[in-house]
Amino acid sequence: MRVLLAEDDAMLGRATCLGLMQSGYAVDWVTSAEQGLAALDTQNYDCVLLDLGLPGMSGEECLRVMRTQARYTPVIIITARGHVEDRIQLLDEGADDYLVKPFDLDEVAARVRAVVRRAQVGDVGEEDVVHGPLTLQPASRSVLWNGRHVALTTKEFWVLELLMRRRSRTVSRQQIEEALYGWGEEIESNAVQVHIHHLRRKLDPRLIITTRGMGYQLAPAQMLNSDPGVQAGGEAA
Ligand code: CA
Repeated sequence: MRVLLAEDDAMLGRATCLGLMQSGYAVDWVTSAEQGLAALDTQNYDCVLLDLGLPGMSGEECLRVMRTQARYTPVIIITARGHVEDRIQLLDEGADDYLVKPFDLDEVAARVRAVVRRAQVGDVGEEDVVHGPLTLQPASRSVLWNGRHVALTTKEFWVLELLMRRRSRTVSRQQIEEALYGWGEEIESNAVQVHIHHLRRKLDPRLIITTRGMGYQLAPAQMLNSDPGVQAGGEAA
């Protein structure tokens, strides 16, 4: 999950960044709407956190430009204004949600998660994703293998979620890195391989197929259902 944060207040920006990173999000932080629009040109984001009071182009204007350019990335407005009419107007103009300053950092992460989920799956919300013996429960961020809970780290969960949501396609290492890590975040060159290795170990060695030079893909569900001889090796939560 990659989030773009447009916030010119250094202290609030840093705190929001850290809060989101602690919740496992990759965050790119810009301090103006212009930089935000430039970032949207070069990178895919799952969500934009947009401060209204930015130097130069305002947050409202930025939102209008985004929607005019048919960019439908979910936007959460950060505002100090608490008036109901202002918020209704912003939602009418295409914001997906808003946060009124000062806000709780856990709440930011929860709101981001909620708007991303709505955008990905439409109205069905936080429905379970099932693939053979594997069930992913986005709402509680839990994973079950043959009905048994398996404890995963946040990044392992997101790698698995990415593979499950794109199960018919191969996902490249770069796509996984971009979804997991923000600008300037130190990435070990084998970080993705390590997450994949752990997922195979915790769930099933056959679960993820490596396509040399291409990336990773989930094994077909019927392949995982057959041959119960392989030890799942799940770590019960
Ligand atoms: Ca501001």
